[in-house]
Amino acid sequence: MTTNRTFTMIKPDAVANGHIGGILDKITSAGFKIVAMKYTQLSRRDAQEFYAVHRERPFFGELVQFMTRGPIVSAILEKDNAVEDFRALIGATNPAEAAEGTIRKMYATDIAENAVHGSDSDENATIEGAFHFSGREIY
Ligand code: ATP
Ligand code: MG
Repeated sequence: MTTNRTFTMIKPDAVANGHIGGILDKITSAGFKIVAMKYTQLSRRDAQEFYAVHRERPFFGELVQFMTRGPIVSAILEKDNAVEDFRALIGATNPAEAAEGTIRKMYATDIAENAVHGSDSDENATIEGAFHFSGREIY
């Protein structure tokens, strides 16, 4: 994966609340091209590995429970400056602090159930994309 790509998940809260369509519309309207996408559910092991960087945090158990409780949509997105522009589009981790018009402001519930994931660096975008997709699934 090249550096004009980022990785996202529409998290179980947003899927359960019927926001897949609204969120994908925000993403494509902002100029991101979908180069891989799937509807899937994380196992406990998947979620623990994906969020391993947070394993010592007090919310880790809650995070794994949340991320495994229902289906998600995972995708790789392409655009110039993808990682930074996508973090701007989703807004702050805590939706109470997210800017007006951002995906988290529009669709997230709280700091834990915050509707979407966005990679925080080019390096992590590559790692996370490869965690979720095989080469044959990426266009
Ligand atoms: P993400 O990595 O999902 O895009 P982020 O980079 O904005 O989110 P991180 O600090 O990486 O935020 O936290 C990962 C996820 O852990 C958050 O998106 C949220 O679901 C959960 N989380 C973060 N902080 C808290 C907290 N204080 N209490 C409960 N859950 C939290
Ligand atoms: Mg993060």
